[in-house]
Amino acid sequence: LMQLFRPLDLLGFVYRTIRQGMVDMAQMFTLMDTEVEVADRPGAPALIVRRPTLAFENVRFGYEAERTILHDLSFEVPAGSHTAIVGPSGAGKSTIARLLFRFYDPWSGRILIDGQDISQVEQKSLRAAIGIVPQDSVLFNDTIGYNIAYGREGAGEEEIVRAARDAAILPFIEALPDGFETEVGERGLKLSGGEKQRVAIARALLKDPPILLLDEATSALDSRTEQGILATLDRVSEHRTTLAIAHRLSTIADADAILVLEHGRLAERGTHAELLCADGLYAEMWARQAVEREEA
Ligand code: ATP
Repeated sequence: LMQLFRPLDLLGFVYRTIRQGMVDMAQMFTLMDTEVEVADRPGAPALIVRRPTLAFENVRFGYEAERTILHDLSFEVPAGSHTAIVGPSGAGKSTIARLLFRFYDPWSGRILIDGQDISQVEQKSLRAAIGIVPQDSVLFNDTIGYNIAYGREGAGEEEIVRAARDAAILPFIEALPDGFETEVGERGLKLSGGEKQRVAIARALLKDPPILLLDEATSALDSRTEQGILATLDRVSEHRTTLAIAHRLSTIADADAILVLEHGRLAERGTHAELLCADGLYAEMWARQAVEREEA
């Protein structure tokens, strides 16, 4: 996901993002060009989310005309359920997330949230409905309080403290001499991977979105920290429609549904148990990761 990281583009994007009042997605996405942003249709209505169902309907998409990345992809995530997307590197998992956030429009097909085509609604309202916990959170050179408050414009102090508590990072912050006023980032306190993830969770909680997009951290967390983060994520994703991009299958075995993506096509779908029985790509990935877990 990070291979196309272009710091300057990202910086410009982050700036515009803040200015437009859209929050917390910039870290998750690597943007090749700034002109990829899509525009609101004139008079586009706000997205209204009553039942946060997600649906991809025959979505075809590529970044370049000659290279299709997603081929006729269809799936549904029922309101309040948890779906995980797995598949080999380059299969198109993050592309699904980028389309859902409408960084790009599909070539054909539709993406629906609660029955509304996301290309037809105001982007600000779309992005307000989706909270992201990215795999590698970017922190601003500002206070830890600011870094959490960034989740929602105008959040009050109490709400920020509650979000920090629910993300299980409050004790850590309270133990710092300057508490929420502690400067973090490049020029301040360096946070560990796990602490940064918890800041991202607190941001997402503050936003209180009906839909959560989780991009699993691929590395850098020891297994105890990881277990703790997973438990927190389980708690915060309760009652929210959750789409998780997963690399380690052990973290998503209890998802309501698992979509197995291969070369931009849905190779398999089912629960963990169903997919093991099917003895296909998922079962193969599971067996391979089990060996790796043993070795670790
Ligand atoms: P990983 O597990 O490694 O993060 P992924 O399944 O999330 O992989 P994507 O990031 O969705 O894969 O990428 C799918 C394909 O699209 C890859 O071949 C990638 O090189 C290509 N791709 C991604 N972003 C761009 C871009 N901005 N421009 C051109 N091609 C891109």
